[in-house]
Amino acid sequence: MDAIVIGGGIGGLTLALALHATGKARRIRVFEAAAEMRALGIGINIGAHAMKELSALGLEDELVATSCQPQDYAFFTRHGQLVYREPFGKAAGHQWPHIALLRPDLQRVLLGAVRERIGPENFITGHRCTGVEQNGERVTAHFAEPDGAALPSQQGDVLIACDGIHSAVRTQYYPDEGPFKFRGFNLWRGVTVHKPFLTGASIARIGARHATMIIYPLRRNYDGQGNLLLNWVCEIEREVAVPVDWNKPGRLEDFYPTYQDWVFDWMDVPALIRNAEQILSYPMVDRDPLPRWSFGRVTLLGDAAHPMYPQGGNGGAQAILDAATLARLFQSEADPVAALKAYEAARLPPTSKIVVQNRTAPPNVIVDTVEQRTGGRRFDRLEDVISQDEMKAIFESYQKVAGYHVQQVSRPQG
Ligand SMILES: Cc1cc2nc3c(=O)[nH]c(=O)nc-3n(C[C@H](O)[C@H](O)[C@H](O)COP(=O)(O)OP(=O)(O)OC[C@H]3O[C@@H](n4cnc5c(N)ncnc54)[C@H](O)[C@@H]3O)c2cc1C
Repeated sequence: MDAIVIGGGIGGLTLALALHATGKARRIRVFEAAAEMRALGIGINIGAHAMKELSALGLEDELVATSCQPQDYAFFTRHGQLVYREPFGKAAGHQWPHIALLRPDLQRVLLGAVRERIGPENFITGHRCTGVEQNGERVTAHFAEPDGAALPSQQGDVLIACDGIHSAVRTQYYPDEGPFKFRGFNLWRGVTVHKPFLTGASIARIGARHATMIIYPLRRNYDGQGNLLLNWVCEIEREVAVPVDWNKPGRLEDFYPTYQDWVFDWMDVPALIRNAEQILSYPMVDRDPLPRWSFGRVTLLGDAAHPMYPQGGNGGAQAILDAATLARLFQSEADPVAALKAYEAARLPPTSKIVVQNRTAPPNVIVDTVEQRTGGRRFDRLEDVISQDEMKAIFESYQKVAGYHVQQVSRPQG
């Protein structure tokens, strides 16, 4: 099989590696729009469900060495009061780690393995896919240079569009989708070097509804002086969306005032924000789930197939799961067109469920529930507001839909 992969992001790179591991593909070529691979993005979470797949590709040690493994997940009110804490990742009994790392580090590890395993000549930059065509036998991809000049078209047996949230291939099949769905929240994201807080490997989620924040470490001993590199994301209700661009710089004055009195005995949030090395903004946008992804010899994968709210740490993880599933199906199905259909049947329903769940019941429902019952005031006794069992049920229900509950991840692959 001769496979064309469009997009050298997390999904496209993982697919190239997973296809290579099956030994089924005669040729795998990845075409990436960017002329050069720059270190882009900040923190990204890869849960145990996706790490299981990356471990099978032999990448666990390298990824663990460049990341942080959270040990617990703690929820706080906007007054800094702890409401719920659970062990997380391996501490929760997972066989594979949950890691948090700089996206450029993830990209570097994946890209290094791709160049080594499929050959540097098969990772082709400066090729923006502008459209696809197919007949019964072959698929043809058309390309342009970054400046718009046309490049020679390429043919293959199958084409997998891993071209991200602004997917050109998706637009070809769904030309009337219109703008992204904006649900009235913008994110401001940053990284700050900071002394260890809570357990030193905690994910902290603070606040409810109109303004929340999540903080987690990406690296331990980042500066050789024992400090963490912390990733933080502020989410605030807003009427107008910021641009849908992963690399859009954010302005302090647009969100800092909301957090300037969030000073707790375990974290000085305003100082954390002020000391950031880099601040980016991004809107909470997604798209409605699609009725189909596979069209003959072409399919969609990752954000091109199911753009979801960037929360719950699932955008990258679901792209990795798509890639691993598709590679397994290419191995078990003799007919590649049947494999693409089987992949759609396996992955479209669960990812659609996550898209919807992220809209209606994101993980911070725990604190939302507490703040609704207290009217947003400090509580004296948490047990008068909510039980541990109720919070555990909310937390576990999100993990199950997101696909990283311990019982799900421990099942055999495929
Ligand atoms: C620059 C960038 C920074 C990001 N930063 C973060 C972050 O800080 N935190 C986080 O959680 N997530 C971040 N993400 C998103 C996250 O990586 C993805 O949501 C997730 O990994 C899904 O993977 P994907 O492969 O579907 O898409 P992506 O990882 O977004 O990859 C898509 C790739 O396709 C390429 N491409 C786009 N259009 C074309 C085309 N027409 N032809 C050829 N190639 C094309 C893009 O250049 C990109 O390399 C970022 C994504 C990008 C592209």
